[in-house]
Amino acid sequence: MATGLSDVELAAGAKLMARLDAFAAFTDEPGRLTRLFLSDAHRRAAQAFIAWCGEAGLNARVDPAGNVVARYEGKSAGAPALMLGSHIDTVRDAGRYDGNYGALAALAVVEALAAEGERLDHAVEIVAFGDEEGVRYRTTLTGSRALAGTYSKDALNQKDSGGVLMRDALKAFGGDPERAGAIRAQNVAAFVEAHIEQDPVLEAEGLPLGIVTAINGATRLEVGVDGMAGHAGATPMALRRDALTAAAEMALAIEARARAEPNLVATVGRLEVWPGATNVIPGHVQFSIDLRAPDDSRRAVALADLTQRIEAVAASRGVRATLAKTHEADAFVCDSRIVAGLAKAVGSLGVPPRLLPSGAGHDTMIMGGLCPAGMLFVRCKGGVSHNPLESITLEDCAFGLAALTRFVRDFHIL
Ligand SMILES: [Zn+2]
Repeated sequence: MATGLSDVELAAGAKLMARLDAFAAFTDEPGRLTRLFLSDAHRRAAQAFIAWCGEAGLNARVDPAGNVVARYEGKSAGAPALMLGSHIDTVRDAGRYDGNYGALAALAVVEALAAEGERLDHAVEIVAFGDEEGVRYRTTLTGSRALAGTYSKDALNQKDSGGVLMRDALKAFGGDPERAGAIRAQNVAAFVEAHIEQDPVLEAEGLPLGIVTAINGATRLEVGVDGMAGHAGATPMALRRDALTAAAEMALAIEARARAEPNLVATVGRLEVWPGATNVIPGHVQFSIDLRAPDDSRRAVALADLTQRIEAVAASRGVRATLAKTHEADAFVCDSRIVAGLAKAVGSLGVPPRLLPSGAGHDTMIMGGLCPAGMLFVRCKGGVSHNPLESITLEDCAFGLAALTRFVRDFHIL
């Protein structure tokens, strides 16, 4: 059992785990967890969060963008704040830890301080973002964008599948669409988000916690391969210009390139074949590439390599390949002082601090535009998320909360 955890930390972890279970009851669909942005379940979850904050002596509220926010003052009123939090919206048929863990862990940190009447040099602000998963509307991260001062009012004109404008849903939720774009957070010294890992790296290495160094940047490409369609019976193998076998060789080359470099990931996730008939040699193939890395310059080098390899395969097989970039997002590098602080807190629990990149996007990368930001990962079973099978252990839950709490107590204004 948890050698590095105090009894108080273990008990706090158990309370957090029980609260995560209770919180999962706030769902829009009976029998499974679905809590979309500004839905009835989201409203009930926000109210429960506010009530729990009240029990800890915190005056929490829904802000104009639909986030739940609260502030625990430091030794002197108005001191700069360390902000903690994550999101409480979910995908459809979700697990109970993605987002919720970090939001409720933030509250649990303040509860630990409040229980001791402990005031720090800095204030602690907690936030439960409402809009991270981007399921209901075609925008996402509007809660963190509002606090970071990068809110786009266009989001308010988005409609959900039932024709409900975000503007109207936000008003009904208790937000204020007119002010959502004007609530850039003030006097925030840093932002830290605890989150389940969503990858199986920590599990594979037998570690409960990880410290995020960067959130991967991504490039998406659409590749068209033009060969020559022909009769599957009459065309000799040597005379074919098969677009599909060329694309297959390209996909293998992409995989091989990504495998050759740590932390680089590349995926061919969609492939379509024309004309798509049993007795016709494929004349055209269209496929996607999703390339991610924690370092933008390495992603750029990998992209150049992939392009070269695809062209080499095309040349050797007598087909033509066309590449078009469809998406590009830079990596977010976590603040090195926060990384060091989290590593120290994790190490103090007797857990080797493992630094790793995040393959998935998070509110942290948006908050990083406002202030120094970082993340703590908690091991999850099999790396499975966005799925009811999402699972963490009680001990890991406690380790994550204890590390976050120790980090907060030890935090010095950057
Ligand atoms: Zn999440």
